[in-house]
Amino acid sequence: MHPSLKHLIALQGVDLRVAELRQQLSSFPARFAELDRQLVAARQRLDDSRAALTKSLTERKTLELDVEQWKQRIRKYKDQTAEVKSNEAYRALQHEIAQAETELARAEDRLLERMVAAEELEQQLREAERALRAAEAAVAAERNRLESEQANLEQELAALAAERERVVQALPADLLNLYQKIARKHGGVALAEVREETCSVCRVRIRPQVYQELRRPENDQIFHCESCTRILYCAEHDAAGVAHSPTP
Ligand SMILES: [Zn+2]
Repeated sequence: MHPSLKHLIALQGVDLRVAELRQQLSSFPARFAELDRQLVAARQRLDDSRAALTKSLTERKTLELDVEQWKQRIRKYKDQTAEVKSNEAYRALQHEIAQAETELARAEDRLLERMVAAEELEQQLREAERALRAAEAAVAAERNRLESEQANLEQELAALAAERERVVQALPADLLNLYQKIARKHGGVALAEVREETCSVCRVRIRPQVYQELRRPENDQIFHCESCTRILYCAEHDAAGVAHSPTP
C-alpha cells in the first residue's frame, strides 16, 4: 500500500463526516422557523378567538338597544291609545302595537341567540388560551432539544476540523491537491475501495495487474479507477493482516 494512502483514507472519512454534519446542521434554521410558526399560529388562533368574542359582544349591545327601542315604542303606542278619539285610530294603534310586539319578540330571540353564541365563544377563547400555553411549553422544550443537538453537531464539526488539520499535515501537497481535485468533481468522494477486483463506487472492474499491485504491501504507486478516476485502495490485505494490522 502506498504509504500516504492510510492518511488519504482517514481524510476521506473526516470529509464525509464533515459533509454529513454540514448537511444536518443546514436543516436547523428551517426547524427553528417551524417552531416559531407553531407559536405564531397558536397566538393567531387566540387573537381570532378574542376578536370574535368582542364582535359578538358589540352585536349584543346593538340588539339590547333594539329590544329597548321596541319596548319604548310599544309603551308610547299604549299611552296614545288612552287619548284616541275614533275607533279607526284605535284599531290603527292596536295594529302598530301588534307589529311592534312581533319585532320585539324577534329582537329578543336574536339577543338570546347572541348570548348563547357568546358563551360558546368564551369557551373557545379559554381553549385557545390553554392551547397557546401548551404550544409555548412544547416549543420551548423542543427548542432546547434542538439547540443542544445543534451544539453537539457543531462541537463534532470543530473536532473534525482539528482532526483534518492533523491528517492534512501528514500528506504530501501534490497528493492532497489530487485528492481535492477529484473530490470536487465527484461529490466529495475521491477514494474508492476495491472489492472483488471492482471499483466499489462505480462498479467497473479493475485490471488484474493493477489489482495485483494494489494488493502488494510494498506497492508505492497511486492507481486510479479507469472509469471514475477515483484513487483506488484495497483494504483486503489489511484485513488479512499482510500489512500492519496483526491477525488476532
Ligand atoms: Zn470507479
